[in-house]
Amino acid sequence: MKLLGKENTTRPDPVARKADGFTYPRVSPEALPYWEGCLQNELRYQRCGDCSEPVFHPRAVCPYCLSDNLSWECSEGVGEIYSFSVQYVALYPEREGNLPRAVGIVALKEGYHMFTELEIPVGSELRVGQKVRVYFDRVADDLALPKFRID
Ligand SMILES: [Zn+2]
Repeated sequence: MKLLGKENTTRPDPVARKADGFTYPRVSPEALPYWEGCLQNELRYQRCGDCSEPVFHPRAVCPYCLSDNLSWECSEGVGEIYSFSVQYVALYPEREGNLPRAVGIVALKEGYHMFTELEIPVGSELRVGQKVRVYFDRVADDLALPKFRID
């Protein structure tokens, strides 16, 4: 069995980028419309034109039927917390001033899930099943991160 080498893939060079003092992954060609949407306060996702399934994260082919007939749609940006965890210990020294921090999975109204950061509400706690809404944290001129808070 021959393994795919770098010359046989279409993956972009995974060079990390810095913004607001943190390291973020480089934007892939497949995800460019998603990140451009975030800069315009739009939470975009893909939908398959053949099997109609919502597709997230951005990719070149549908994970359900392998069709490349994908188009972009705009999510309402509302959903509910599917799972979460509160981080009290920084994995990287640059994150120490950003704790505690909640990360989790949100089930979007359109039928897909996304991993994201959750704003911890003042005076209350996060719970699975809580309704949340997206907001966009502009961490650099050319980078806005979709995050969620209690709706
Ligand atoms: Zn499909």
